[in-house]
Amino acid sequence: MLPADNHIHSRWSWDTAETSTMELECARAIHRGIPAVAFTEHVDFAVWGDGDGTRWPSLQLGDRPPSFAPLDIAGYQANIEKCREMFPDLRVLSGIEAGEPHLFPASVTRVLGAGSFDRVLGSLHCIPVDGRLEGDTWTLFTRHDPYDLMERYFAELFALVEESQLFEVLAHCDYPRRSWPTARVGGYREADFEDHYRSVFQALASSQRVLEINTGSPLASAALMRWWWEEGGQAVSFGSDAHRPSLVGDQFELAVHIVEAAGFRPGRNRFDFWRR
Ligand SMILES: [Zn+2]
Ligand SMILES: [Zn+2]
Repeated sequence: MLPADNHIHSRWSWDTAETSTMELECARAIHRGIPAVAFTEHVDFAVWGDGDGTRWPSLQLGDRPPSFAPLDIAGYQANIEKCREMFPDLRVLSGIEAGEPHLFPASVTRVLGAGSFDRVLGSLHCIPVDGRLEGDTWTLFTRHDPYDLMERYFAELFALVEESQLFEVLAHCDYPRRSWPTARVGGYREADFEDHYRSVFQALASSQRVLEINTGSPLASAALMRWWWEEGGQAVSFGSDAHRPSLVGDQFELAVHIVEAAGFRPGRNRFDFWRR
């Protein structure tokens, strides 16, 4: 039995195609033998809201992509309800993926108050570089030393975990590895950043939260998931980060083996996180 897919985007996310409907993604999950899906749509902000931005008072927000738009919470929730009726054998969870929740605490809080969300993911996609919040890691890696950039990433990720209690699951904890410049500097090695991973994991574990294994990123090793276990991590969430139906539950068989090798086991029921 495969675990729940706790990280999926549908057409309600600003970066996801209109053809990636919740209905098609639910059908795909059932076909794959996935017992539950969480639609964790992007919640990112193009401007500072009242009460945001106290961590970096002079930080400029970088250019947001043209497709950027706030989440239509009412439309999203109506679609969730429709899917729950259409697919009674699938557990359909609501959720958000909050980008940089430690920088936008007030804005994220307002979104959380405007709806009902079962899964709240916290993500770091953008990092402060030269006074600007920059999110295009592909370009950043061409302009900066990649090791230095990863260290900045982990420092900001640590701050995100320490300073924000708004989310339960830490998504893709090493997001920039997706764009790591392998051709120029060789492959990404988790061991080069072991101390950074462990610091973040310790902070996350001490606040009783959950680490995600993200199958849309290069897959974490069993050794990395074991660092999570050793730092006191209690639970693991599986997330495909699918932005189209064909990727729902992608590589979950492999991810299950990795998480099992690190010492975690299925949780209380088939919808639950995996636990130690
Ligand atoms: Zn993300
Ligand atoms: Zn995502």
